[in-house]
Amino acid sequence: MLEKYCPLCNKTLSFEFFTKATSEKHGLAPYCKPCNSFKNKAQYLKNKELRMAKAQEIRNADKEKARSISRNSYQKNKEKISERNKLRKEKIYAAGKAYRERNIEKMREKYALRRSIKQKCFHLADRSKILDFYKKAEFLSKKTGIPHEVDHIIPLKGEKVCGLHWEGNLQVITRSENRSKSNHFIIQ
Ligand SMILES: [Zn+2]
Repeated sequence: MLEKYCPLCNKTLSFEFFTKATSEKHGLAPYCKPCNSFKNKAQYLKNKELRMAKAQEIRNADKEKARSISRNSYQKNKEKISERNKLRKEKIYAAGKAYRERNIEKMREKYALRRSIKQKCFHLADRSKILDFYKKAEFLSKKTGIPHEVDHIIPLKGEKVCGLHWEGNLQVITRSENRSKSNHFIIQ
């Protein structure tokens, strides 16, 4: 059996352990296959670290470059950007205002609920039934031309009693009736 010495692992091995290499003496690679693959792997790992470090360097440089580009473009377009943001804000505000105007009864119901929660006169009520009162007030206001409002029969924050915000404590009356009633509630 033909054998060849591998200087890496210090072993004499049969030819079949060596890769064919026409340029070499005996037409075989200088190191055995296991040694060769080990060497290649070590080289690969060593290069991998270098490759990764290089790639990271490129990425960092890019980041710095990207940052400086965005900084410069911001400086250049500062006024344009702030104008655009202002317009955007105004647009959002206008849309909100239009929505509130379109849904005035809904907003009134919502505000009344918020007030009642703040004043701790909140009652777990059916909000759709309460909304009906606000719709009715809006309808009557438009139909008669006299402003109508939703009133708490027993005021939420009366002088002696505290009513609740729920459909059983609501009525639709005119604004002037509501103003003259104020928060006075006569206990019968
Ligand atoms: Zn070897």
